[in-house]
Amino acid sequence: MPISRRRLIAAAPLAAGLAVAPSVVRAQAPGRVVIIGGGFGGASAARFARDRFPHLDVTLIEQSRSFTTCPYGNLVLAGRRDIGSITFGYERLAARGVRLVHQRAVAIDPQRKQVRLADGVDVPYDRLVVSPGIDLRWGAIEGYDEAASARMPHCWVPGLQPVTALAEQLRAMPQGGTFVMAIPDNPFRCPPGPYERISMVAEYLKRHNPRAKIIALDAKNGFSKQPLFQDAWAELYPGMIEWRGASNDGRVMAVNPATMECVTEFGDRVKGDVVNVIPPQMAARIARDAGLAAQSGWCPIKPATFESAQVPDIWVLGDASIAAPMPKSGFAANTQAKHAIACIAASLAGQAPPPAVYFNTCYSHVGEDYGISIVGVYRGGTQLTEVEGSGGISPRNSALEGERRAEHRRLEALYADGWYDAITGEMFG
Ligand SMILES: Cc1cc2nc3c(=O)[nH]c(=O)nc-3n(C[C@H](O)[C@H](O)[C@H](O)COP(=O)(O)OP(=O)(O)OC[C@H]3O[C@@H](n4cnc5c(N)ncnc54)[C@H](O)[C@@H]3O)c2cc1C
Repeated sequence: MPISRRRLIAAAPLAAGLAVAPSVVRAQAPGRVVIIGGGFGGASAARFARDRFPHLDVTLIEQSRSFTTCPYGNLVLAGRRDIGSITFGYERLAARGVRLVHQRAVAIDPQRKQVRLADGVDVPYDRLVVSPGIDLRWGAIEGYDEAASARMPHCWVPGLQPVTALAEQLRAMPQGGTFVMAIPDNPFRCPPGPYERISMVAEYLKRHNPRAKIIALDAKNGFSKQPLFQDAWAELYPGMIEWRGASNDGRVMAVNPATMECVTEFGDRVKGDVVNVIPPQMAARIARDAGLAAQSGWCPIKPATFESAQVPDIWVLGDASIAAPMPKSGFAANTQAKHAIACIAASLAGQAPPPAVYFNTCYSHVGEDYGISIVGVYRGGTQLTEVEGSGGISPRNSALEGERRAEHRRLEALYADGWYDAITGEMFG
């Protein structure tokens, strides 16, 4: 459904509710809030806690000294961004009074309420926030392990493998070569991410290797913003992209890095000059080891607060959590973080949690001056539900005439840049 003015107006007070919710938390009880993971969920939580609840003692445990965002990583493939422009340090968070501990958290003891660091030191907490992101399920695709990822990069977790690994292979691809991508079934980090990546690879190839082909092998039969992406591919990159869904034998079961082949469910062998394998995923190890994850590998939460449904006084945010219908996105992690911190402040003060409203927009760059988006507003009660009549998706080409269409796409690309600057500024600025 196109984003109409009426729908945006309907969503506005709810989105604004995110900003006002914490003010209903009045009493100020001190407490030690420890956060594991300094990415979209964790850095947002640390910043928000310091800004809104300065009486809280906030410690952020992050294993790396800098954070490279996944968002805008696809633009590095297109050659529009360099990796430095999407990499941030933690100095500003430290200057705001967040205690930074650059170590790996190796265990959580919920009875003693402490986090064990790699050097053996224990960090005590009153409330713990866990936002460690994802691990890749090595071996879920036969033959795809960490060694295989050197030849067939995933570039889905920047701390493991930066997007530059794929960019280098793309730049070295022979003229008229084939770029193959294997895409997992739901749930996975960033539902529109693979399709934005296809678009940004196509943008690069159109300029530098116009006879090249992209074959996308998908374990699903449909994907986020599919009609919008496919309209844009037909318009901007005609004949370059072949997308195969599961019912068209798109599911990749095995890979062979020696021959650069993907083997599909019904035995087709698809060879690429560059092969980007995005494997199935699960919550990162620290969350699973702490007993926060269900059998699915993802962590159940209470939708009204994002406190773990399995372990008290621990909040699980971001990709690690089971938050459907919210997508696993940076924006989602950011709004979850704000609400979780307000709930933590309330619980320390013995108050009821504020009403739970969450918000998400996923922008995707599809070409130069060509952006699209999807918006959702959600409520958390006994279940997480999308608010009826809220949100929306960019209009399809058929709904926009010539110049209006170009202007609409151009503006959405601009809004995407604004969103990126705002959210990274909020985390690291
Ligand atoms: C290609 C791509 C494009 C994307 N584009 C967008 C987009 O346009 N918009 C959007 O909203 N989202 C986008 N996303 C999704 C977004 O990146 C994730 O949803 C988001 O990063 C999730 O936040 P998180 O806090 O759960 O995990 P992360 O942001 O990954 O943060 C986890 C942090 O925890 C740290 N950590 C993990 N384990 C430990 C430990 N044991 N001890 C200490 N530290 C630890 C890690 O080092 C990491 O810094 C994209 C993703 C991809 C792959």
